[in-house]
Amino acid sequence: MHFGGLFGFGENEKRAPAAPPSVEPIVAYRSWRVGKEEMLISATFECVWNVRERMTATCRQPVTHPAAPAWDCRCGFYAFKTHGALAASEYALGSSAVEVVCGRVALWGTVIDHETGYRAEHAYPQVLYLRGDRSDEVVRRIADRYAIECVPLSLRKP
Ligand SMILES: [Zn+2]
Repeated sequence: MHFGGLFGFGENEKRAPAAPPSVEPIVAYRSWRVGKEEMLISATFECVWNVRERMTATCRQPVTHPAAPAWDCRCGFYAFKTHGALAASEYALGSSAVEVVCGRVALWGTVIDHETGYRAEHAYPQVLYLRGDRSDEVVRRIADRYAIECVPLSLRKP
C-alpha cells in the first residue's frame, strides 16, 4: 500500500486557506492493523499508536519541514471524513495475514482538509467497531487498553 495515495491529491483540490489549529477535535474514520501485542498500528507503515496518550505527527519524507502535516507533503495522521468512505476503501479490509480494526478517531491541531479525508497533527482513537465475529474479543481488549469504547458496527452513530 502506498502511503500518501489515500486521498489522491487531485487537481480538483484547492489549497485551503491557512486555518488556525483546531482545538475542537474533528471526528473521522480510519482503520488500524492489529499488532502482535494487540496494539493499534497505522495501516500503511510501521507506526504503533500510543496508549492513553495523544499521537503527534512527524514527517518521514527526505525533505522535512518544521511542523507536520504540511500541505504539500504526505505526512500527518490520515482518516476519512465518513465511515462510508472508509468502508468502501481497501483500508477497511483485513486479510488472512493482517487483522484490521476500524474505528472513529479524534483529530486536532493542524488538520489539512482533503476532499475525502484529513491529515492531522494530533490523533487518538475514540471508538472501535466490533464486527460480530471471533475478532471481537481482541478488539475488546484493545479498546480496554486504549481506554476507549467499542460498539457493534450496526450500532455505530454518525
Ligand atoms: Zn511532511
